[in-house]
Amino acid sequence: MSTPKTLVWTGIDYERPGKQIGFLNLEHSVTRSGYGMIRIPIGVVKNGAGPTILLMAGNHGDEYEGQIALTRFLRSVDPDEVQGRIIVLPALNLPAALAGTRISPLDDGNLNRVFPGDPRGGPTRAIAHYVSTVLFPLCDAMHDYHAGGSSMHYVRFASAFLCGRDTDRRAIGALKAFAPPLAKIWTGALDRGNAHAAAAAQGVVALGGEFGGAGDVSLEGIELIETGMRRFLAYFEVMQLPADAPPPPATRWVEVGDQSYFVYASERGVFEPLVRLGDEVTAGQAAARIHFVENPVRRPATCHFETSGLVVCRRAIGRCEPGDCLFHLATDVPTPD
Ligand SMILES: [Zn+2]
Repeated sequence: MSTPKTLVWTGIDYERPGKQIGFLNLEHSVTRSGYGMIRIPIGVVKNGAGPTILLMAGNHGDEYEGQIALTRFLRSVDPDEVQGRIIVLPALNLPAALAGTRISPLDDGNLNRVFPGDPRGGPTRAIAHYVSTVLFPLCDAMHDYHAGGSSMHYVRFASAFLCGRDTDRRAIGALKAFAPPLAKIWTGALDRGNAHAAAAAQGVVALGGEFGGAGDVSLEGIELIETGMRRFLAYFEVMQLPADAPPPPATRWVEVGDQSYFVYASERGVFEPLVRLGDEVTAGQAAARIHFVENPVRRPATCHFETSGLVVCRRAIGRCEPGDCLFHLATDVPTPD
């Protein structure tokens, strides 16, 4: 069976030198626009021979730091500063980005769960399919900038996805170069539907990270992306570091283990956190109370941490349902070689 063809067309020529800013046009035929297109913004900056780096944001539409950093980067970057090629997707799941939602309002698709995608599976899967079949094969490395979305706060971190292949060492090197204060190592299935796993499956060095959350815009998150991105591009010798670049911070290395690292709501109610982001907690410690405001005589339920670690994520919405993630932890790992 032949590979299904993409439904995306673009006027961008990936081989043309210079800076191009245009669109990936995805067919979307609806009542108000029978021959309509979703116009996903893209920029390509190319100068001479060198690696190809993909920078992307708006994979989830309600995560904004990367969207801001990448649109600013595209406006300011001078092709003469580039050696190689940089492909920039600042608002990849555009319908979700315009709606300010995690998933697409067109098909309820969560772009970061449907890679490698399907051209006939609705707009979200069609976007994933184009990135997987057209862009990843061009790339040496990618960085997908996330945040906690509307429902989670995060301690900001950048991450590398390791898959037991030759690219792992370069992914560690690239993450060291990005130099976040907190660095997370991901290991996991290549077929979980995430962009970074799908990229790694094709031999692309894949970085990710959470740079804010709670549906807010983190100034510190934007600054971390902008300074780290320049160090990341310098690692691949695609851009030089500016002479006045600040020294990178020291990095703490962590991993997120199994389900015991996560605390989930056991009841429907109002969530009262009992610890703060960045706290160190111990196994058995109370994590949260869930209050039943409709019945004041009922005592709140208490949720506990199953393991010890650093609180890197907590729910950002007061009301909770059984199964909502309230917290997750990370634990220290040695600095990788
Ligand atoms: Zn995300």
